[in-house]
Amino acid sequence: MKFEIIVDVFEEMEKTSKRLELTDHLVRLFKLTSKEIIDKIIYLIQGKIRPDYEGIELGIAEKMILKAISISSGLELSLIERFYRESGDIGVAGEKALENRKQSVLFREDMELEKVYSILEKIASLSGEGSQDLKFKYIANLLNNSTPKESKYILRIVSGKLRLGIADYSILDALALAFTDSKENRVILEHAYNISSDLGFVAKKLALEGLSAVKELKASLFKPIRPMLAERIQNAQEALERTNGICAAEYKLDGERVQIHKSKDKIMLFSRRLENVTLHYPDVIEAIKGLGIDNIILEAEIVAIDQNTGEYLPFQDLMHRRRKYNIEEAMREYPISLNIFDILYYNKECLDMSYKDRRALLESLIRESNNIIRLVPMIITSDAEKIEEYMEQSIADGCEGLMIKNLESSYRAGAREYAWMKLKREYRSELADSLDLVIIGAYHGKGRRTGKYGAFLLAVYDKDNDMFRSISKIGTGFTDEHLDTFYSILESYKLKKKDARVDSKLDADVWFEPKIVIEVIASEITLSPLHTASMDIIRRGSGLALRFPKFTGKIRYDKNAEDATTTDEIIKLYHKQIKSKREA
Ligand code: ATP
Repeated sequence: MKFEIIVDVFEEMEKTSKRLELTDHLVRLFKLTSKEIIDKIIYLIQGKIRPDYEGIELGIAEKMILKAISISSGLELSLIERFYRESGDIGVAGEKALENRKQSVLFREDMELEKVYSILEKIASLSGEGSQDLKFKYIANLLNNSTPKESKYILRIVSGKLRLGIADYSILDALALAFTDSKENRVILEHAYNISSDLGFVAKKLALEGLSAVKELKASLFKPIRPMLAERIQNAQEALERTNGICAAEYKLDGERVQIHKSKDKIMLFSRRLENVTLHYPDVIEAIKGLGIDNIILEAEIVAIDQNTGEYLPFQDLMHRRRKYNIEEAMREYPISLNIFDILYYNKECLDMSYKDRRALLESLIRESNNIIRLVPMIITSDAEKIEEYMEQSIADGCEGLMIKNLESSYRAGAREYAWMKLKREYRSELADSLDLVIIGAYHGKGRRTGKYGAFLLAVYDKDNDMFRSISKIGTGFTDEHLDTFYSILESYKLKKKDARVDSKLDADVWFEPKIVIEVIASEITLSPLHTASMDIIRRGSGLALRFPKFTGKIRYDKNAEDATTTDEIIKLYHKQIKSKREA
């Protein structure tokens, strides 16, 4: 397939920010694509070459890319750098340079998509000594053989900055339309995606084997399953009402969630965002080896513990460990525990088993032989008072509160429903819970904050429309160190204009790709005409906003922007707040 075809569609997509139009373009592209390579097209649309969990990075430094453009175009490096400064987009800079190529390319064959992809794969596989030189040669070779327009996209892909603004949801819609003629079938595709986390794989199965094969797909080892999530609830009474009078209450530990995949001697750990974090926790790997069970997928929370007493320590202690460069030292200074709470696979998929049966299986398999491996403490009860007591006990033991689980529920990959509920201690006058919000824009700082950002614009996620809608400006709760951190981590997400998936009436000095999620508390949720979160839902002309928002100090590196608090959740919280005000 000619690379030009996909580039032409990308060009069209760049011209619109309307979701339906974007989906139409994708459908057209999928129909043009030969079935064998649909997976490659999907990865490229997502700006990568393999699913995220494989952790394959192209890893190309900007400097090297600029040099490759210079060599291929025959123009001075300083001129290329100027093009880049002016446009802020390495793709545009490359396109412009190559349009002004010193010598025209006489014998160029049409670039095939397969060729581009295989060279990108080669680039990604190179490491160690001499690899930089080779990468450089491959990029220059790609540029020599591409048109300026094709180069624009190649350069954006290799620099990790292909921003088409297309979410997985839109790709699923387009796949359903292109291969089954019905958007309704997206649910089937979504399930397959939720249990494999590999959109390319799902697309190829659909294209080659049809919808029924996708329907029969099961979870498998070493393909991470998207985590099941919890709704918030207010009190023990509500827990019982939502579980037909009997539920499991587990400690809600404050650490890092991991999904453990193990066959004989192969063990892999995936984070909540499904990144491969196997190398972060050698001590966990050792402990799992000692378990003596195979062909298994477990879920657990890793929590820092006190060296001497084995008591749970707060999340911050785990973060200290993650920041340490020397992992041996980190393991000694910050020991951890692995607290297992679910089993998703044991020789075969276990997702359809009830919570009760999965927990029983877990208890029959796991030996709590040492301080590291533990089963998450749990009770089954139909007594609200017992739940309250257990809540107190969990907090006294250093936990955040309780996770309430429906005994009959299957494991619902990727879903946030009332099958799991989180019950945290209430902060009386504050919102009952913190929010996880996405940074979409920022404002330059003044006074002491000159040279950094002084405030940020935050958004919630509107899942149904795949948009990020503004909910608050925030400038409180940040230390100087935080502001330095934000300034540097946001650098690579800067945009020239507002992202296609961002909806905001307020302007910002700088716009960002929605990527970074931070934890925020606030005194209450209010109605506001300035913000677009849940616009017109509670009152016409008003959205929802936060009063006295404050950063808690937690950057949610473990969350994607799509995992942030949703508009639906904000509406629920707003109603809860009204209700508790009335009762007060
Ligand atoms: P929060 O913001 O409240 O920490 P979250 O938004 O990260 O939660 P939720 O699904 O809302 O995700 O809450 C569940 C999280 O709580 C899980 O992702 C997991 O990391 C953690 N957790 C702690 N203890 C348990 C437990 N016993 N069962 C399930 N998850 C647990």
